[in-house]
Amino acid sequence: PFDVLVVGGGPAGAASAIYAARKGIRTGVVAERFGGQVLDTMGIENFISVSHTEGPKLAAALEQHVKDYDVEIMNLQRAERLVPSEQTEHGYHEVHLASGATLHSRSVVIATGARWRQMSVPGEDQYRNKGVAYCPHCDGPLFKGKRVAVIGGGNSGVEAAIDLAGIVKHVTLIEFDSKLRADDVLQRKLRSLPNVDILVSARTTEVLGDGSRVTGLRYESRENGSLHAVELEGVFVQIGLLPNTDWLKGTLALSARGEIEIDDRAQTSIPGIFAAGDVTTVPYKQIVIAMGEGSKAALSAFDYLIRTPAP
Ligand code: FAD
Repeated sequence: PFDVLVVGGGPAGAASAIYAARKGIRTGVVAERFGGQVLDTMGIENFISVSHTEGPKLAAALEQHVKDYDVEIMNLQRAERLVPSEQTEHGYHEVHLASGATLHSRSVVIATGARWRQMSVPGEDQYRNKGVAYCPHCDGPLFKGKRVAVIGGGNSGVEAAIDLAGIVKHVTLIEFDSKLRADDVLQRKLRSLPNVDILVSARTTEVLGDGSRVTGLRYESRENGSLHAVELEGVFVQIGLLPNTDWLKGTLALSARGEIEIDDRAQTSIPGIFAAGDVTTVPYKQIVIAMGEGSKAALSAFDYLIRTPAP
């Protein structure tokens, strides 16, 4: 059995594995896809102390750093079920994999991350990272002086539109519903900005491009069915971030959005089970934040281990 079993191989999981292994305890990482969301990222310019890097390069560096230590890496393995130690006869937590294997550990760090909800319209996939973006903190500065749309009028969409309006030339906010759902204070702020247009009851139907970059988008009015096109260089999709917690339903306490609830030491509702990164309630989903949280979770797991007798 492991002392610390990390589920997830993104920035949070890699940081957890390194911090745990540096304590000289038996550490394993199981990941469906080592590298996580970083693998889908092109330019990264806010990984502090590194002016510019690329996703696949950072993902390879994460894996190499973990491999510097005595960590058992189980890549391309999906965790399907968690059985907390109080429900097992031997007193270890169990993580069941899709392959049929069962892993045992005294403590578990869950770092299974999240994924952006997609519009699923033509052009979205083709122009991802070529004008279609999901993270205003990450990619906003790339659109300085250009025209963008933000899809989604909830809090994250309206926050993104306010944020981007300070950087880009013009923002068109597009909401499917007949009204914005963001908090009033955000809506008032948004409406006070001179370079923002707000469209409601509008269904985005296609992202347009010239083969290499986004050039616009098409939407349909839900009031009268009319079709419209907007010329622009960027589309920020803000219709939800989905935590990868389906496999945990009924075990750990999750928030209404399905994120794992943790305290300031990364402890979940079950003793010995910790969580870190985009899968948790911790706000602002970013690489440096996920790494910090993953490190914290591993240190908390170590603290738990030295205070708890082995089964
Ligand atoms: P993830 O990176 O999501 O990793 C989750 C890990 O868990 C993966 O290894 C996954 O395969 C694994 N996993 C999931 N479910 C299971 C399961 N059931 N069993 C086993 N393994 C599982 N942030 C920045 O700071 N700067 C940027 O420039 C930036 N750009 C971005 C661009 C894009 C296109 C995207 C999508 C995100 C970007 N982000 C950026 C956000 C950043 O990538 C995330 O905040 C960060 O990767 C979160 O790390 P994590 O380890 O919590 O989760």
